[in-house]
Amino acid sequence: MKIKERYVYLVCTKCSNRNYTTHKRLKAAYKLEKKKYCRFCRNHTSHKERKL
Ligand SMILES: [Zn+2]
Repeated sequence: MKIKERYVYLVCTKCSNRNYTTHKRLKAAYKLEKKKYCRFCRNHTSHKERKL
């Protein structure tokens, strides 16, 4: 069985830099939001997904 996935950026909500790429299932209803280290803010900030 093949799972369709798409790649998304994880964008820092404070400085809007695209720090990470990740992937999630194509029809996933949830929005990704993760606490990650942002090297521009030099801090852990929440990152939201954005389409590639
Ligand atoms: Zn940042």
